Amino acid sequence: MAPMDAPHVVILPFPAQGHIKPMLKLAELLSQAGFTVSFVNSDHNHHRIDQTAAFRRHFPGIKFLSIPDGLPPDHRRTGLAALDLFFSTTTFCKPIFKNLIASMSHAPSCIISDGIMSFAIDVAEELGIPAITFRTYSATCTWTYFHLHKLIQEGEIPVLIEGSEDMDRLISCIPGLENIMRRRDLPSICRLDPQNQILQFYMTQTSKMRKASALILNTFEELEAPIISLLHSIFPTVYAIGPLHTALKSSAVHNSGPYNSSSLMPFDESCMEWLNSQNLKSVLYVSFGTVVSLSRDQLMEFWYGLVNSDKPFLWAVRPDLIWDENGPGEVPEELKMGTKKRGRIVGWAPQEDVLAHNAIGGFLTHSGWNSTLESITAGKPMICWPILADQQVNGRCVSEMWKVGLDMKDVCDRSTVEKMVRGLMEGRHEEVTKSTNEIARLAQDSVREGGSSHRNINKLIEDIKLLHATNNASKGNK
Ligand code: UDP
Repeated sequence: MAPMDAPHVVILPFPAQGHIKPMLKLAELLSQAGFTVSFVNSDHNHHRIDQTAAFRRHFPGIKFLSIPDGLPPDHRRTGLAALDLFFSTTTFCKPIFKNLIASMSHAPSCIISDGIMSFAIDVAEELGIPAITFRTYSATCTWTYFHLHKLIQEGEIPVLIEGSEDMDRLISCIPGLENIMRRRDLPSICRLDPQNQILQFYMTQTSKMRKASALILNTFEELEAPIISLLHSIFPTVYAIGPLHTALKSSAVHNSGPYNSSSLMPFDESCMEWLNSQNLKSVLYVSFGTVVSLSRDQLMEFWYGLVNSDKPFLWAVRPDLIWDENGPGEVPEELKMGTKKRGRIVGWAPQEDVLAHNAIGGFLTHSGWNSTLESITAGKPMICWPILADQQVNGRCVSEMWKVGLDMKDVCDRSTVEKMVRGLMEGRHEEVTKSTNEIARLAQDSVREGGSSHRNINKLIEDIKLLHATNNASKGNK
């Protein structure tokens, strides 16, 4: 445990796996730096974590606290039902979080809150505590969200996917992205009516982030330098400290142990043994993350595409991946046979380990930011099928900006899946293979001693120490 006079950082993630994971990685880094770290989960997730003794053992230096998320106990909170958390957290959590902070015997030196939990910035302001915002998206997507108002003003929202609109027309009103971002690449919320509650939620949250004193991003300078520098027009300080999952692996204290321990769900490790029996770079890993759901038809198109490609595949199929009430229904015999022959399906895979495995040759992904960064770092090229939130932007960056994969956006038929899988796994895209290797090296170097993210993490640590010292000095003067 850190001494009582150490800096104390309170970290508040949005209560979803993709947000908790990078913020918990940051919590671990700050705890290793000798800080007291209080990590505030929702009661619901706290209870899930509490079931896993291994989880608590893995984070001896972090104090896990919790507040209610405002939803009834029997609410599903998974898949698309997780969207209810946007409104429940905004309306319900602020006074409870404020009481929690005000009652702490060790006053926080700063609060690091998720970019979509901006009530925490208000609480920090009211209690006179410095606030830093952590956006769990890429810099490019964060920058795009800061232009939602502009996109509405320019009549770019709503993007209508059906009808006569040219979805491939370039968007000109986001500086730095004029030659890259097409209408279809805008975040999924841009397909909604401007008055839609979810779009409004994101606009409010993004604009409130401006009140924080600094921005933390799980990215690295070599990947997104031009956009990070544009973000400096909003935030005096931007800490690009990713890829956080690798930053921990690189740190001296943490060169052994279960790195995947920030998962809320137990892993099915059996697939690792299966991977050991596969040829080098022969297997396609498939996962649609923690929120995206498929219709039965979409599931069938992917499944046929995978089986017809004749490539071995490992597919993480969450229990709630299919949103049709009747589940997947009858599975055709040829799919069962094809999967038995060349495939493996698990409920929840140890994704970081899977991607790092040398039998994996590519990743068919929904393009969530964690998955994208994990794949980039592991040097695995992607096929992107983005659906929600930032995923459309990530898919575009992967295929056009960084050239580390192919974008299958807005298409879902078995022949396209088959064609793309064959093309990727047979290494037919030379530019993709080359960039994937180069960018993986840059990602790994960024978190090594002297690398850009390593320096930025150290700067964040030093800046928090300074905030702590200033707090103490001002208390001493009173
Ligand atoms: N993940 C995992 N096992 C799985 C599927 C996903 O460990 O079977 C992890 C993955 O490593 C990633 C996170 O869940 O860190 C998903 O985050 P991402 O931002 O990619 O997607 P989202 O949570 O938004 O769906």
